[in-house]
Amino acid sequence: MADVLVIGSGPAGLFMATALEQRGLKVEGLSPVAATEHWPNTYGIWADELEALGMEAFLWKRWQKTTAYMGDNTIPLNRDYGLIDREKLQGHWLEQSNRHGIRWHVGKAVNVTHGPSRSEVTDAQGNVYSARLVVDTSGHSPALVKRLPTMKPIAYQAAYGIVGRFSAPPVEPGQMVLMDYRDDYLPVPEKKLPPTFLYAMDFGDDVFFVEETSLAHVPGIPMDTLERRLHQRLAHRGVKVSETHHVERCLFPMNMPLPDLTQAAVGFGGAASMVHPATGYMQGALLRRGPDLAKAIAQSLESDRTSPKEAAQAAWQILWSEDRLRKHYLYSFGLENLMDFKTRDLQQFFTTFFGLEQSQWAGFLADTSTLPEIVQAMLVLFGRTSNPVRWGLMSSVFSHGNLLKRTITT
Ligand SMILES: Cc1cc2nc3c(=O)[nH]c(=O)nc-3n(C[C@H](O)[C@H](O)[C@H](O)COP(=O)(O)OP(=O)(O)OC[C@H]3O[C@@H](n4cnc5c(N)ncnc54)[C@H](O)[C@@H]3O)c2cc1C
Repeated sequence: MADVLVIGSGPAGLFMATALEQRGLKVEGLSPVAATEHWPNTYGIWADELEALGMEAFLWKRWQKTTAYMGDNTIPLNRDYGLIDREKLQGHWLEQSNRHGIRWHVGKAVNVTHGPSRSEVTDAQGNVYSARLVVDTSGHSPALVKRLPTMKPIAYQAAYGIVGRFSAPPVEPGQMVLMDYRDDYLPVPEKKLPPTFLYAMDFGDDVFFVEETSLAHVPGIPMDTLERRLHQRLAHRGVKVSETHHVERCLFPMNMPLPDLTQAAVGFGGAASMVHPATGYMQGALLRRGPDLAKAIAQSLESDRTSPKEAAQAAWQILWSEDRLRKHYLYSFGLENLMDFKTRDLQQFFTTFFGLEQSQWAGFLADTSTLPEIVQAMLVLFGRTSNPVRWGLMSSVFSHGNLLKRTITT
């Protein structure tokens, strides 16, 4: 019998499987696709987040010229951004997985039961897999992890992107545009509709990636709206797509309810609601928080008498400590604010946000700041921003105050 059965072979699954094996545990995996199947998503990350982990070699590309456009303001971000070399990272974890003899079964997990000494997972074919603990990494709609009831309607980040060649450069040579919230390309009536921004980068060799993105909206902004806006934006600058190499359609939930922390299976990644509710980023969080989770699991399984429920409790406490829960509610409050803002307010908000000390905005985006540091940054932002944004933030205290209350009382 395996010590741990990992469900899913996305970034969270491969990372957790190898981290647990390195801690001396016997690990098996279960995924409907071969673990070697390429991950479909493009993953962006700030270069210093990987550097802090000694993993900068896993950047496929790195941009120094990083910019945000907020109305008439062009904001140099002065911070390197990169795209993860997903094939290299996946290959690295697969190589470790093979070296340690992790066995990957092909199957779709449909059910789990828990006894005093083992959990049993059944797949869609009726095969049963036993382990002392199950770690569900099956993504944002988890196969096994149960979540708490929904507090808010689910907001989705949605994006439509094209990698290809263009009649003229859609962004400056060598540039990475984190957010272009200019809406000068939209007809007046559409400026009142939910705002979207351009996320774009120069891949080199006249190839660019351009993606029209909705940070978060309930329900998710339809793909055809994003596609149309992308082409409208490009056309406004006299740019046409001349070659399409790849189309990315992105849709994922930003504010899924937290997992039930009393259950006897543990989650990691999208399955454990680890997406940053105010930004949509998760890859850095996986890499930073995974090792502590693996350590806690290994320690709890040291005793032969540990039940799945006890091991899962120890794991959930590490993943969702009280401090992290408080920050999660504060970020969720931030998300509600961002969704309430119209374009002008968003432009003003982000102009002030990126005018904070870099350590402040970087710590907020990566979720590496402490709660007092985040509160301090938010107070500075409140003091410096425009009156309409201030008013919006104050109104949110009334409409979404329950999230702030949880930040204080959790
Ligand atoms: C298009 C897109 C772009 C994104 N870009 C970024 C980004 O730039 N930066 C960032 O930080 N985050 C990004 N995210 C958010 C987040 O990082 C990703 O969603 C990430 O892929 C989640 O990783 P995961 O391993 O938790 O889940 P997934 O990558 O979804 O992997 C889930 C795994 O579980 C398997 N599985 C599913 N169901 C079952 C089942 N029943 N039984 C067994 N296995 C199952 C799947 O086959 C898969 O192997 C993006 C998300 C999307 C959708």
